[in-house]
Amino acid sequence: MSFDELLRKEVKNVPAYVPGKSIEEVKQEFGLEKIIKLASNENPYGPSQKVIRALKDHLNNLNVYPRIDIPELRDKIGEYTGVDRDQVVLGAGVDGVLETLFKLFIRKGDEVIIPSPTFPYYEILSAIYGGMSKYEGRNENYDIDPDRIVADVTSRTKLIILCSPNNPTGNSIPNNVLKEILERVHCMVVVDEAYAEFADWNALELVSSYENLIITRTFSKAFGLAGLRIGYGLLPEWLVPEYMKINPPFSTGNLAIGGAMAALEDVKYMKSIVRIIKKERERLIKELCIHTYPSQGNFLMADVSPFSSSEFTETLMKKGVIIRDLKRFRGAGTTKIRISVGKPEENDLLIKSIKEIVKC
Ligand SMILES: *Cc1c(COP(=O)(O)O)cnc(C)c1O
Repeated sequence: MSFDELLRKEVKNVPAYVPGKSIEEVKQEFGLEKIIKLASNENPYGPSQKVIRALKDHLNNLNVYPRIDIPELRDKIGEYTGVDRDQVVLGAGVDGVLETLFKLFIRKGDEVIIPSPTFPYYEILSAIYGGMSKYEGRNENYDIDPDRIVADVTSRTKLIILCSPNNPTGNSIPNNVLKEILERVHCMVVVDEAYAEFADWNALELVSSYENLIITRTFSKAFGLAGLRIGYGLLPEWLVPEYMKINPPFSTGNLAIGGAMAALEDVKYMKSIVRIIKKERERLIKELCIHTYPSQGNFLMADVSPFSSSEFTETLMKKGVIIRDLKRFRGAGTTKIRISVGKPEENDLLIKSIKEIVKC
C-alpha cells in the first residue's frame, strides 16, 4: 500500500493552480536581459511610502502573535467601505477569506454555481471541499444572465460565486442584476470585488440589506500589497461569529495588519495610482491593435485570433513581455489572453511588441 491512498479522495481531483512563468524563468529560458511581467494583475507602483514606514515599525513585533481580532482595522475598513465594522472579517487575502467560506458552507455533493470564465481558484476550492461546480455560461459580452443562474439553483446549492469586475473578462455586475439574484435564491451569493477600486461601481450599498450577500475584497491589487496577504470579507452579521470560529486564528500577520492600517490611512495615494492605471488602461484599448474588451479592472482581456492564445503568448514572451494565456481558464476558448496594465513605459513596450506580431 502506498501512502497516497491515505489522501482524501477529493484531493486527486483538484486541479493544480497554474501560475504564469516568472521573470527569472523567462530570462533563463530565452536568454533575455529585460523582461516585463503583465500577467498577474499586480500593481506596478507598489504601496504608499506610509505603508513602507509602518512595516519598518512593525519589524519590532515579529516575535509576538497577532491578536485574533483587530477592531481598529475593522473600524478603518468600516470607514473606508461605509459598511458596519461588525460585518467586517479579515483573512489571508481574498483567497484566505474564500477558503474559510468554503469550509463554512461546502461539503461533499453541495453545489456551487460559478459563471465562467472567471477566477480559477473558485473551482479549485470547490473541488477541495467536494463541491459540485456548475459552470454556468455567460452571454456574448460575458455578462451573467440572472435567469439562467436562478434556474441552476437547486436545494443542494449553497454558494453562487460572482466576480465583479470579473477576472479575466473585465466586466462588472450591475447592482439591479445582483439584487434580482439575491432576492430570488435561497443560497449565499459571494461577490468577489478584488478589483473594486478600479471599477465604476460596486455592491457595498447592498451589504446592509441582504442576509445572503458576502463581498470579498483585498489589499493585493489597488493598494499594491499582494505580497503581504491580507484581505477582508463583508458578511451579514449572523455569519460573523461562525466565520471567526472557522477562520485560522492567526491567518493574517502583524506586518499585514500594520500594512493594511497604513494603506487605509493613505487612501489618497491609492486613488492617485488607480487614476494613472485607469488612464493607461484606456490608452491600451485605443493603441493595442488587437481586439480588447471593455474593462473595469487593472487588466484587459483580448482576442488574438487568428493566432492561438498560446502561440501569441509564446511569441510575446520571446520579446520579453509576459502576459496570461487564458486557454486553461474554463470557458475562455483558445484565442483569449489577459494583459495587466503596467507603467506607461511597460505599456509602450507591450504596444510596440504586439505591433510587431500583428503587423499593423
Ligand atoms: C487576484 C485575485 C484574488 C486574490 O486576491 P488575494 O487577496 O491576493 O488573495 C481574488 N480574486 C480575484 C478575482 C483575483 O483576481
